[in-house]
Amino acid sequence: MSEQSTGVASLHILKYPHPTLRHVSKPLRRVDAELRSMVRQMIDLMYEQDGVGLAANQVDLPYRLFVMNLQADSGEREEHVLINPVIVRRKGSAEDREGCLSLPGIYAPVIRSETVEVNAFDLSGQELTYQLEGLAARTAQHEIDHLDGVLFIDRLSPASKLAVKEALEELELEFQGGRRRGVIPDDTLISARLAELEAART
Ligand code: ZN
Repeated sequence: MSEQSTGVASLHILKYPHPTLRHVSKPLRRVDAELRSMVRQMIDLMYEQDGVGLAANQVDLPYRLFVMNLQADSGEREEHVLINPVIVRRKGSAEDREGCLSLPGIYAPVIRSETVEVNAFDLSGQELTYQLEGLAARTAQHEIDHLDGVLFIDRLSPASKLAVKEALEELELEFQGGRRRGVIPDDTLISARLAELEAART
């Protein structure tokens, strides 16, 4: 299928409650020029939106990969592409405030492992091990959650859930408005497009 029909020509960030954010990604098996160009766009979007990480299903792609800026703590840029990431070790626990480019304006504390060891492949097919702590450890866990269709709002305490309820309802209303205007396709079309993209590379 052409780029036009799959709609990967220009990626944009999906907002809650878009159904692709609940898509559980299958491992990526094929990296080609088009995929590299999509990853490049993801990195550009991440920096444009001042994000520290971005998962493929946040830009309507069913692939098990995310991009992250490992220098986010220092304000420098150092982007990494993590394909088929797996957390192989966790240690400790830490609570900190999180936000998400798919949930603009919403921030709440989330408990995560303090340090994680993550195995992943890069775009050249090389397997790498990342020892992550601080913001990088938190970001990797947040992004891997995305690939399993999990959002940080799923991990909130009952009190925090209550605190963000109104903001979530506003995003839900915006989404319904987008559906009514025909800007957001119906669930059947979204699933068909994801299935087509999956068939090409997973
Ligand atoms: Zn996110």
